[in-house]
Amino acid sequence: MLSRLMRVTFGLFPGRCILCQASTARALDLCIHCETDLPMIPFPCRRCGQQIPQRAAAGLSDDSRVCGQCLIKPPPYVRSFSAFAYTQPINQLIAEFKNQHQLLVGRVLAMVLARRYYHQDDVWRLNTPITREPIKPRLATRLKTSIKAEPGSRPLPDLLIPIPLHPTRLKFRGFNQAHEIADAINALTGIAIDDQLCQRITESPPQKGLSAAARRRNIKQAFQLTRKLQGERLALVDDVLTTGATVSELTRSALNAGAGSVEIITLARTPKSRYF
Ligand SMILES: [Zn+2]
Ligand SMILES: [Zn+2]
Repeated sequence: MLSRLMRVTFGLFPGRCILCQASTARALDLCIHCETDLPMIPFPCRRCGQQIPQRAAAGLSDDSRVCGQCLIKPPPYVRSFSAFAYTQPINQLIAEFKNQHQLLVGRVLAMVLARRYYHQDDVWRLNTPITREPIKPRLATRLKTSIKAEPGSRPLPDLLIPIPLHPTRLKFRGFNQAHEIADAINALTGIAIDDQLCQRITESPPQKGLSAAARRRNIKQAFQLTRKLQGERLALVDDVLTTGATVSELTRSALNAGAGSVEIITLARTPKSRYF
């Protein structure tokens, strides 16, 4: 949870870019030039977020773009969305956010993610400026309702589920990065956060550096859901999507518990060539 002090500080001082230190003249501490330079995955697959070759992606809308791998063996989640590619300088910024308590860095990246997520489809382009203040809940509901009524538009998820940390690691780190990211999405879209639904019951070692198979073994039965679901559309929120072992495990548990669908929202996607 963002501290009140941080919210106040953010409101009082003019934006200064976290990368080049220039004054940004935006309600975001990231200048437009640095934001444009941040790496993205071009033509991402709707299901797994990996890049599809430009030639294969030609003529396909964002929504119908699915890679060959996902056509053969789709992941259990219906879509994934990441704002950035997990390469320089995003990997460094995320490390500062998680390991050095740079909550402002995380907040800036999460605000960019929230905005890109919200405006990813053409029918969703509402030209909403990035605001310092969260949208008032009633306005957010109105926006959500009008978007939902749009024919052919993609419905928003019902709940944001930050991937939980094991209590021991949460105590060590002092905050859950996934919750900070979900906070920014909630502030822009009004989608509720549910951090009670899912609990981490085993303290699995970090996934970093493990092979895909080892990651799947490592994460098996790491989560427990605290209640049955009734068709809710969930969005699992995390910092980085790599092999998808963690979110696949949780997606299966959620679908077994009655979730209608599960999608994944992360700050960054690791390109396939950089898994290890
Ligand atoms: Zn800058
Ligand atoms: Zn794919």
